[in-house]
Amino acid sequence: MVRKQKDTKTGALSSKAQKVLESDHNSERLKLALKTSLNATSVRPSELTQSDWELTQSFDLMKKEVECARLFNFELPEDIILAVQLMESAVEEFTQTRKNLILYFDETTGSYSCLNDEKHPEQKPREVTRISDGFLQELLDTNEVLHTYLFSQDALIGIIAIAERHDGEALGVRDEMMLEMVASYLSTKIQGFKSLKQSLMLSVVQRTVLEISSQLITAVDQEGVLTTTLESFGRQLGFGICQYIQVDPEQGLGEVLLEYQNGTTKSFVHAGLKSKRKTIPEFSAMISLFTSAARSNPYLHIPGNQLGDRHLQDVFGIRRLEKKHSIHAALILPVIDPASGKIRGTFNLYRTEPHHVGPETLEMAKEIISLVSLALSRVMVLEMALEMASTDELTGLTNRRGLYDRFEAEIERARRNQTSLSVAMIDVDFFKKFNDTYGHLNGDVVLKELAQIFLHSLRKSDLVCRFGGEEFSILLPDTSFKAATDLLERIREKIGETTIAGIDGEKLNASISVGLAQVNTTQKLTQASKELISESLALADEQLYLAKEQGRNRVCATCSPKK
Ligand code: GH3
Ligand code: MG
Ligand code: MG
Repeated sequence: MVRKQKDTKTGALSSKAQKVLESDHNSERLKLALKTSLNATSVRPSELTQSDWELTQSFDLMKKEVECARLFNFELPEDIILAVQLMESAVEEFTQTRKNLILYFDETTGSYSCLNDEKHPEQKPREVTRISDGFLQELLDTNEVLHTYLFSQDALIGIIAIAERHDGEALGVRDEMMLEMVASYLSTKIQGFKSLKQSLMLSVVQRTVLEISSQLITAVDQEGVLTTTLESFGRQLGFGICQYIQVDPEQGLGEVLLEYQNGTTKSFVHAGLKSKRKTIPEFSAMISLFTSAARSNPYLHIPGNQLGDRHLQDVFGIRRLEKKHSIHAALILPVIDPASGKIRGTFNLYRTEPHHVGPETLEMAKEIISLVSLALSRVMVLEMALEMASTDELTGLTNRRGLYDRFEAEIERARRNQTSLSVAMIDVDFFKKFNDTYGHLNGDVVLKELAQIFLHSLRKSDLVCRFGGEEFSILLPDTSFKAATDLLERIREKIGETTIAGIDGEKLNASISVGLAQVNTTQKLTQASKELISESLALADEQLYLAKEQGRNRVCATCSPKK
């Protein structure tokens, strides 16, 4: 037997409640029962007048009301489990039933979850229309259940169900009245319980977010910000796999810049690793979903492991999963550029354990994302300022300072990945004489043109800098000594074959001499990078001197470290 009633405390029904009760045929009969008697079977004793009889009944009702108020007059403890137990036992004591269920509405999932179901703790949330008599009977493991709705200021906030009277009698009208009384007191408690849960959740969120923000503040580049964020998502929010996918707005592609798996992050942020990045076709189209919804709902929650008919692993180019891992859910969070409002990229977070993404996690993820957007903007300004300070005005190339910074990073990388690294020193031949013949302005034209030839002959991951005057330096990471020598030979030839137009249409020619040295990153692992940089530049310089001595317009190279 299941009866649905309206809120006896407020009397009024919200539209939501009205909907719920639309199919209700029993409420009229119940109202009648409520008005006429506490006990449908009892008869007025003849010694009582009608008015005394009514007085006794209302007195009994009042006593019940006082008892209910007394039972629910407890402070909710901070311990969530204890709070639930207190509510549960108050319901049990008042209704004198053995079983009860408290379902409460969760705004973040838009459905009802069970508060006190120990037998089915993993019970998935349900929409109110799907909470049938059968469902409650199944949860309570009985075939007779009474339930009613919990309201707070006209809003439906939960459901209370009871079953199995202590005295073994069948549930009756009196129990319905008890349940109604309980409902109004329980509603207040559920509201309190919700605020308690929220404040507990907020303090966890605040602590986590504070921790991450202090790490983000110290990050000086994009790679630092993104790594910190991915690792926080992984470790603190419990996502087994996390990616940062950058949007390439021109081609509509996504590029996986970083991927976190099993506690370690693999980074492909460095321009030199562009070719190794996993690409996701039509990524822009895929995430265009966000541009419209971004502000109100800045995330996409995928509750399974599929997107459409494809597996998430294939869609987002996730590296091979470990055998014990599989994807159970995903959360995709866009990072929006605060200046342009456009999506820079997305953090894709994957659950590798069978836990759903709860409201707490979602709240934290959203907080973190807004911090990340700001941190990224900050480091990008920083990177731009650094770039300006390390750019040569005449040629637009990196200056010597920029070379030293990159050199250090490249040494670290070469040591780590055991790849070879070469450096070349380049000097324009007879440039003094050139200036004297064609003028200083034409000299500048030649320097600019040479810079362009260098840039066009090199890969994105290589670095060319104006070392000073008419001297240039080239850094070739991940390039064998042989390949580096061949490349510089080709550049030298190309320059020799190029005729440059002067400011008055003069036909200008120039040649270069090159000294090349392989940076010794294999041995002396303890050697400081700065020391190795000076040593390598000196070696290249020595070779350059040799090239000049041997007649200029040539490449001299060494792959052996200084004796
Ligand atoms: P080589 O290197 O072949 O031995 O002879 P060089 O004549 O190039 O020798 P040196 O290195 O002594 O001369 C460098 C000249 O480059 C001196 C200077 O006038 C010229 N130079 C340096 N910086 C600039 C510049 O920014 N613009 C122009 N036009 N010339 C420059
Ligand atoms: Mg010189
Ligand atoms: Mg010179």
